[in-house]
Amino acid sequence: MTALFHRRCGADLPIASTGDGCFIIDKNGKRYLDSCGGAAVSCLGHSFEPVKTAIQEQLASLPFAHTSFFTTGAAEAMAQALIKHAPAGISRVYPLSGGSEAVEAAIKLARQFFIETGQPQRHKIIARRQSYHGNTIGALAAGGNQWRREPFTPLLMETSHIAPCYEYRDRKSDESAWDYAQRVANELETEIQRLGAENVMAFIAEPVVGATAGAVPPVPGYFKRIREICDTHGVLLILDEVMCGMGRTGTLFASEQDGIAPDIVTIAKGLGAGYQPVGAMLCTEKIYETIAIGSGFFQHGHTYLAHPIAMAAATAVIETLVAPGMLSRVRERGDMLQTLLEEYLGDHPHVGDIRGRGLFRGIEMVESKSTKAPFDPAKRLHQKIKAAGMDAGLMCYPMGGTIDGKSGDHILLAPPFIIEEAELQEIAVRLRHSIDVAIKQ
Ligand code: PMP
Repeated sequence: MTALFHRRCGADLPIASTGDGCFIIDKNGKRYLDSCGGAAVSCLGHSFEPVKTAIQEQLASLPFAHTSFFTTGAAEAMAQALIKHAPAGISRVYPLSGGSEAVEAAIKLARQFFIETGQPQRHKIIARRQSYHGNTIGALAAGGNQWRREPFTPLLMETSHIAPCYEYRDRKSDESAWDYAQRVANELETEIQRLGAENVMAFIAEPVVGATAGAVPPVPGYFKRIREICDTHGVLLILDEVMCGMGRTGTLFASEQDGIAPDIVTIAKGLGAGYQPVGAMLCTEKIYETIAIGSGFFQHGHTYLAHPIAMAAATAVIETLVAPGMLSRVRERGDMLQTLLEEYLGDHPHVGDIRGRGLFRGIEMVESKSTKAPFDPAKRLHQKIKAAGMDAGLMCYPMGGTIDGKSGDHILLAPPFIIEEAELQEIAVRLRHSIDVAIKQ
C-alpha cells in the first residue's frame, strides 16, 4: 500500500525507474514514449547529461545558501542568462520553485507596485475563462477553471473573467480573424471600464493556452490589442508562460511571436526541464525601480528562493535552449508533428481540431465534427485516451472540463525538443490507436 496521496486516491500507477532520452522506463522494463513532457516540463528528455553535470557540480561545491545572507554565482548566472534573452524591457528576475509560486509573486508584485505609485485602490485582477494559473490560493483565484475553483470559492479573492481567444469555438463564420481578435480583446476594455480603471491592477493570460485546453494559440493581432488596452488604462499585463515559455513554442518566450512584451512574465516547467523544481517571475526595470526607490523591498520571499542547485540546472537548460539550432529545431519539429497529426488524425470522425505552435500541440475531441458538440463529460474520454496511451507505451496529457459549457476533451502534446523524426511518427501512430481504443469503451 502506498503512503502517498498526491494522486487520485487509490490510483494504481506504474513505478517509473529510469529515463532514456524521450522515454521513461518503469520498474518492469516497459518503455513509455513521453509525448507531453509530463505536463510540458521535460523539454530535454529524461537523461540529458549537461544538466545532470551542472547539478552535480553545484552540489559538490555548495548545496544551499539562504538568500537573506548571500547571493550565489549560480543565481547570478541564471538571472543573467535569462535577461539576455528576455522580452524587451524585462530586466529583473525573481527566482522561485515553480509556476504557482511565480504567479503568486506576480500578483503581489503588481499590488505592491500600485501601492508604491500612490494608487492603492488598484487591486482587481482580470483573467480569462479559459485559464489556469496555479493551485495556490492567489493563483487559483486568478484562474478561470470552474472545476478547480468551485470548492475553494469562499477563500478566493474576486477576479473578473473575460472570454478567451479561442478561434475554433468562437470565431463566427462571417468574421475575419482580425475582427475576431479585436472583438475578444475588446472585452478586456469593457471589463476595465465596468470595474473602473482606477481599481484594476492587472490582466493575466497565457500567450498560448496550455493548461485548460490543449495548446490554443491566439489569433494574430489579439495580444497587440490587449497590450494597447492595458497601456491606455494603466493596467499591468502579466503573461503566464509557465507552460508555453522556455522555447516550447519555438521562441524562448512565447509572446515574442505576438510582437508584444509584458510588464511581468512568469515561467517554470521548461526552465528546470524536470531536473529541478524551479520557476521565476520577471519584471520590467520600471516596476523594479519603483520598488527600489520606494520601500526598497518587495514584501515577498520563500526559504528556497534562488536555490543554488535549481539555479545551476536552470542555467544549463537556458544555455542549451539558446544554443544555435535548438529553437529552430523546435519550430521545424513542431511543423512536422502538426503534419503527422493531420495525416494520422485529420480524418478521424471525433478529432475536431489540431492546433498549436512549435512543439506544443493540442487535439480537441468532439462527439460531432459538424456541430463541434463535445462528448458527455461523464464519459471522461480524455482520461480514457490517457489510459489507452499508457497501455500502448505513450504518455499524452489529458485535459477535461468545459469552457463556457462548450469544449470537453483535449489531449496536449509537448514532447522533448530532442525528439527524433521517427519518434514523432510513433507518437502519431500510438495516439491514433489510443483514441480508437478509448472511443470504443
Ligand atoms: N500557470 C500555468 C499556465 C500552468 O500550466 C501551471 C501548471 N500546469 C501553473 C501556472 C502552475 O505551475 P506549478 O504546477 O508549477 O505550480
